Amino acid sequence: MGNDTPFAQRPVIILGAGIIGCATARQLLLNGFRVILVAEYLPGDQNIFYASAWAGAAWHAAGGICPEYQYLQAVTHRHLLMMAQEDLESGVCIVDSREYLEQPPSSSSLWGKNVVSKFRELGPDEYPSNFSCGWAFDSLVTDPTRHMPYLGKKITSLGGHFIRKRVESLQELYTMFPESYIFINASGLGSKSLTDVQDDKCFPERGQNVFLRTGNCKTMYFRNGKEYTYIIPRPLSNGLVLGGVKERDNVSPEVDMEIARDEIARAHRLAPDIIPENPSEDALSYIVGIRPSRQGGFRLDSEQIGSRIILSAYGFGGGGYAFSYGVADALTKMVEKAECENVILQAGS
Ligand SMILES: Cc1cc2nc3c(=O)[nH]c(=O)nc-3n(C[C@H](O)[C@H](O)[C@H](O)COP(=O)(O)OP(=O)(O)OC[C@H]3O[C@@H](n4cnc5c(N)ncnc54)[C@H](O)[C@@H]3O)c2cc1C
Repeated sequence: MGNDTPFAQRPVIILGAGIIGCATARQLLLNGFRVILVAEYLPGDQNIFYASAWAGAAWHAAGGICPEYQYLQAVTHRHLLMMAQEDLESGVCIVDSREYLEQPPSSSSLWGKNVVSKFRELGPDEYPSNFSCGWAFDSLVTDPTRHMPYLGKKITSLGGHFIRKRVESLQELYTMFPESYIFINASGLGSKSLTDVQDDKCFPERGQNVFLRTGNCKTMYFRNGKEYTYIIPRPLSNGLVLGGVKERDNVSPEVDMEIARDEIARAHRLAPDIIPENPSEDALSYIVGIRPSRQGGFRLDSEQIGSRIILSAYGFGGGGYAFSYGVADALTKMVEKAECENVILQAGS
């Protein structure tokens, strides 16, 4: 491909093949763009620094976020719902959810009731007496052990290409693809060490979950308050993900059995009917992953650097799945805008 390649035929280059890079690649391909993803870890890999392999991954309306970010989550919900209804291979399922609150909710945390189905307030006899209120609703869970390989296959079948490679800088990518002018940085925690990004606000946040193999895996539970606890069902893998924990700047791959025991105990207190106090060892396995967190929240923006457009989408911490398809949609709009400016407006001036 030479320099005389028309703008619209130059591939969009995505650094990173986690849920953010892959969801974006899928959306761009559906919109008719050529896409190449460059990443050290690819769908199906299991390195602890590849967060997308380890997520719960529940859709849960985040509290304390601005309306624009709420909408990103709502768009994600729309896409995931479609997959749950039409594509079993995607690993997305609709599940009954219960959320128990210690304090009455602030109005800002209730926005999700306009997005989910079957939202209702629970009566006092429907939640444990140590809580002040509770909600039931249908939510969505994504099994990443199925979803990432599914997305990888989807991207390839739509004409996208993966290149397995670790780069040290964005500049290295510009050299690899001199004819491209739109680059998307979806490198998660990688943005801390890329030499021309070096975002010091990024930090690793270790997560560790217990996977309990059980056929009783239809309902999701959240404890919203003192104990950060969730029980996320994986109906297609016959089990429940029990969590959670957030450990800033810890990157140990070893399972911490004290945390695991505490997570089982917390899950048992939250849903004693489905989580035994002492589950049998052979029903248990453990999940360890590093969340790509960022002080002040994620980046989702566009910059013109020289003749190139750089879109940044990283730092999603514990919410990358809940934001994924909304972020992909937003990035696709940014790419369309850059295309319009380059192909039509500048060319015409
Ligand atoms: C235990 C646990 C539970 C979680 N539960 C949930 C949940 O319930 N709901 C939810 O929404 N989220 C959850 N998350 C968070 C979610 O997993 C992350 O937010 C999400 O996976 C981040 O995706 P990403 O694509 O930004 O990053 P990643 O998945 O980490 O992908 C980064 C990509 O960039 C590539 N890369 C980085 N640097 C370089 C480089 N220099 N050169 C080449 N390639 C590079 C990597 O190889 C990789 O392909 C959980 C996370 C953990 C660990």
